[in-house]
Amino acid sequence: MTRVGLGFDLHSLAAGRPLVLGGVTVESDRGLAGHSDADVLSHAVGEALLGALALGDLGRHFPDTDARYRGISSLTLLRHVVELVTARGGRLLNVDATVLAQAPRLAPLLPEMAKRLADVLGLEIDRVSVKAKSPEGLGLLGRQEGMAAMAVVSVEVTG
Ligand code: MG
Repeated sequence: MTRVGLGFDLHSLAAGRPLVLGGVTVESDRGLAGHSDADVLSHAVGEALLGALALGDLGRHFPDTDARYRGISSLTLLRHVVELVTARGGRLLNVDATVLAQAPRLAPLLPEMAKRLADVLGLEIDRVSVKAKSPEGLGLLGRQEGMAAMAVVSVEVTG
């Protein structure tokens, strides 16, 4: 059986934080706020993976009240999610993700983000799609109050 999962995440931008997207540190005077490294792209992918197998959300598995996850790399969290999926007979087939960010320009960094994610997910690079979309100056994303990401995954489940 093939299942699909949908992930969405949103974080606010704050001064004095690194900006990490798909495990790549992006040059920026502000970064995403959160308990972990607040990597909104990796979170969306993780949410999609959990959703594909109806395993709840990241907050359930990695509560932000748990000091173990403070400042943790979200790629590490994603690795745990892959283990959860694998343990239930799931094999990730592909990922398609979009980051919504007004600035900085992310296009040159998208291949590196896809590569980092592919490594953690155990996928060939041609099965990982990372795109960026400008919110065209509209709303909270356009005002650079935060960044959002969405992702879909397909997972083959056996047994
Ligand atoms: Mg998040």
